Amino acid sequence: MEGDAELQDLYREVLLDYFRSTRHRGRVASPDIESQGINPLCGDEVVLTVSVRGGVVEDCKIDGHGCVISQSSAAMMSEAVKGQTLEEASKLAEGFKRAMLGQSSFDDLPDVLDEARALEGVQKYPARIKCALLSWNTLLLGVRSHKEGKKEVQYQEK
Ligand code: ZN
Repeated sequence: MEGDAELQDLYREVLLDYFRSTRHRGRVASPDIESQGINPLCGDEVVLTVSVRGGVVEDCKIDGHGCVISQSSAAMMSEAVKGQTLEEASKLAEGFKRAMLGQSSFDDLPDVLDEARALEGVQKYPARIKCALLSWNTLLLGVRSHKEGKKEVQYQEK
């Protein structure tokens, strides 16, 4: 573990469970969306590959590396968007972002984001909020670009 004292305070077990899980890891064989996200502030990287059928997220996998917060958040994101329409997936991402940025309450998030509430404690560490948001921002750009006919995109936190 990266000796992250901050994590003591967070929902450590939930996050570590997602961090260690291989359920969402890897790449979709022939993705309709391939979005790479980088957070240079922490050295986090996520590569989202998504297959879309009839406007619905058929599968979403996560590749990449980085801190527990970035990678567990990505795994939660992957789990939440599967089976959602692209529009619903974007709404979930926007909702999670608003909650993370303190613009709305985590309590108001839909049930499908229950697990993502474990990231609420990250708000106490503003420098880490970008770790938590990376995969969701990467998804939003991927979906937007998909609508514009672009398959591969790259997102970078600033
Ligand atoms: Zn990070």
